[in-house]
Amino acid sequence: MALRTIVTLPEPVLYRKARPVKKFDQDLQTLIDDMIDTMRDAPGVGLAAPQVGVSQRLIVIEYADQPEADEDDEPRKVKPKLYVMINPEIVKTSEETVMGVEGCLSVPALVGEVERFEEVQVKGLNRHGQPMKVKAAGWLARIFQHEVDHVNGVIFTQRAERVWKPETEEEENDKV
Ligand code: ZN
Repeated sequence: MALRTIVTLPEPVLYRKARPVKKFDQDLQTLIDDMIDTMRDAPGVGLAAPQVGVSQRLIVIEYADQPEADEDDEPRKVKPKLYVMINPEIVKTSEETVMGVEGCLSVPALVGEVERFEEVQVKGLNRHGQPMKVKAAGWLARIFQHEVDHVNGVIFTQRAERVWKPETEEEENDKV
């Protein structure tokens, strides 16, 4: 396993619609493992193959979903869950949308306010080529939408109502 270089704007691969993955060979497995390492090292909670200069439809996400804690309950410690999805496709969206502040590993020093669906269903293939489907809500749904945008050559700044340079660390959210 190895770390890959994360490419940043205006690298053309980031604006290109990526090709579907067809071969589930050793090169693909290596790419997936490298992307997971690279995401964790960044650190980030999501990464799409074009962000490491590979124009293929492949995303990795690692995120701990925060369940809503009851008032009496101790806050539950949630282990981050890893998702590897090939040829991801958003197949269902909620009517409800939410605004949120996003940052991107490929867009250093900028954050932006982006409207996203509150819930999405995403289908694709796992690393062995078997079908998988994920129902995501809240921030996880946002991450999936951000990463699927990446494999379609869309950068969050193109969707943002406004973008700005964060002045404090609090303004810098988890990067994707
Ligand atoms: Zn991004």
